[in-house]
Amino acid sequence: MNSSRLVFRSQLPRKNDTYSYGPPPDSPPPTSEDFISFQLKCGLSLCRVCSCLAPKTCSKCHKVNYCSKLHQLMDWKLQHKQLCSESFDVQSVPVPDHGFLFPEYEIVTEPEETASDDDGTGMDLDTLTSEDISSCIESPMDNLKLDENELSAMAKQETKEDKAFNSFKKRISSEPEQVLRYCKGGEPLWLSLQHVPEKDDIPKCACGAERLFEFQVMPQLLNHLKVDSLEESIDWGVLAVYTCSANCNAEKHYVEEFLWKQDVPSNAI
Ligand SMILES: [Zn+2]
Ligand SMILES: [Zn+2]
Ligand SMILES: [Zn+2]
Repeated sequence: MNSSRLVFRSQLPRKNDTYSYGPPPDSPPPTSEDFISFQLKCGLSLCRVCSCLAPKTCSKCHKVNYCSKLHQLMDWKLQHKQLCSESFDVQSVPVPDHGFLFPEYEIVTEPEETASDDDGTGMDLDTLTSEDISSCIESPMDNLKLDENELSAMAKQETKEDKAFNSFKKRISSEPEQVLRYCKGGEPLWLSLQHVPEKDDIPKCACGAERLFEFQVMPQLLNHLKVDSLEESIDWGVLAVYTCSANCNAEKHYVEEFLWKQDVPSNAI
């Protein structure tokens, strides 16, 4: 169900009310043992469970904030019940794992190395910056052509659908842990020939500009999210994200963009 997945774009200017202007320190990221601030620079408070804006305050101690009654209750049961008092020092107590947020990781970015890196990619290079080129991938159509030669001997009895899936697997085999593929203006790496969008299926941005493919989220990410505890299955094959080609108007608030979900075909393993 696409309706349960939304994509938002934020392009905060470097100088903003939330994050510091300078780069983050080289020190390792905070662990749950470290103190985490639940107050933004502008004074707004954040929920101790989910870090969303938190208009509710514990009415007894006025020291902790929550987005909702539900999260207040979660924290109350897990920790705050024992600590709630006028003398409670928020900074002295590590935040417990409420089991609510997905774990956080650092994403390491590397250009994809393919066997045919020196071939033309069929993309209009003039429209890409050097940064884009280094992180760009080739279009899956090129990849299919390549595989046709390489696999011609064994591919005779393969259906086109098998080929698409095998091509997908081969393409990611050099970096099997990849969770994201980025290539603004490029093409997603589809894992199936079914449910691939036509140009008209991608709605334009509210500003009137076309949306371009920007990146796709790979199913490998599911392994890292610890989703077993969720009641609903959130499986996907490819989550392709299309964003405004004009990068319009996202300095002050989030802008909704477009997501296309392709499932793993039922006959594929
Ligand atoms: Zn919350
Ligand atoms: Zn309290
Ligand atoms: Zn736009």
